[in-house]
Amino acid sequence: MSTTVAQASFDNSPPQAGWHFLQIPGPTNIPGRVLRAMDRPAIDQRGPEFARLGLELFEGLKHVFKTSEEVFIFPASGTGAWEAAIVNTLSPGDKVLMFDSGHFSALWVRMARQFGLEVELVANDWRRGPDPAVVEAKLAEDRAHRIKGVFVVHNETSNGVTARIPEIRQAIDRTKHPALFFVDTISSLASMDYRHDEWGVDVSVGGSQKGLMLPPGLSFNAVSARARKASETAKLPRCYWDWQWMRESNGAGQFPYTPGIQHLFGLKEALAMLRDEGLDNVFARHQRLGEATRTAVKAWGLETVCADPREFSQSVTAVFVPEGHDADAMRAIVLKRHNMALGSGLARFAKRVFRIGHMGDCNDLMIAAALAGVEMGLKEAGIPHRPGGAHAANDFLARAA
Ligand code: PLP
Repeated sequence: MSTTVAQASFDNSPPQAGWHFLQIPGPTNIPGRVLRAMDRPAIDQRGPEFARLGLELFEGLKHVFKTSEEVFIFPASGTGAWEAAIVNTLSPGDKVLMFDSGHFSALWVRMARQFGLEVELVANDWRRGPDPAVVEAKLAEDRAHRIKGVFVVHNETSNGVTARIPEIRQAIDRTKHPALFFVDTISSLASMDYRHDEWGVDVSVGGSQKGLMLPPGLSFNAVSARARKASETAKLPRCYWDWQWMRESNGAGQFPYTPGIQHLFGLKEALAMLRDEGLDNVFARHQRLGEATRTAVKAWGLETVCADPREFSQSVTAVFVPEGHDADAMRAIVLKRHNMALGSGLARFAKRVFRIGHMGDCNDLMIAAALAGVEMGLKEAGIPHRPGGAHAANDFLARAA
């Protein structure tokens, strides 16, 4: 692990020695290579060195999104790129199809409503992704083509459920409906396979602080030709997020406003790390870490929030604690005694769920240690479970290696 700084004391207890285990599903561990690359003075954002950097980053991001189309970089957290996706393509009163399939899906719905969009909302129990058959039925019944966009979060970070994007695309195609397809890849990009072009996505939204191993503060839109065309007539007000404004500078590797220069140095290094490991190896590593985690959860006799094995996330696992027990009390013990941060249950899952992040700069021994820490925390918090989950995960990892 490259984050070597012991966690600062969060109460009056002395600082703890050794690693702080950051096992939340983002922000993730920032590799030393990235931190060192960012530890540089600023350069002139209108000079030739920066222009070369900008052009290199746009190309590098295309490789990660698997697209030959344009990619925009915003100095913002992921929420900014959500907003950019909406304001560049849609007009007030436009109807959109969205899914209440987790905390982040619900926040994107809230944003769409705040922009005056008419949201047709499909509810679910937050334990599965959007159903491709429902997408098909909703679009098929919209003969007047009032629905302008279908919005899906690829990897719901709040519940560890990965939507089946290719199947949803096929469902849209069967209806021949012209709605644009918007996909949030914030906690899947650079952790799980994602194919903007091949999967026919019109706007992909990404963020820096998860699979890309960077600090929060950069976010992305990959944009299809259809989305670009839609942006020419879209009427929602926009300025800071305007793709056209970006495009006018991006061609020369520059930005219309002062970019987060050190973040971009870090992005260059993170892209190099992903290239060095190879994206397919990165995805295989995440798959292995995800399976190891699920092996432990099963052996503990606990239940994952994700109810459909086809939709297990490879970057985060959300786990129910048994009825009558408090996941936050267990997380507090793990933090205080073992210097490990686990993700909390969000919104309707508050206190009922804890989340184990296994994305970004994470390897077999890091997840093995994290799972050992979870097992100790379960015991210390008096949460009923069968012992041996961490051991079962070790066995799995040894066999997988
Ligand atoms: N979408 C997903 C899937 C997320 O996990 C998050 C944050 O964790 C967001 C959107 C919001 O991104 P940010 O907090 O960077 O604004």
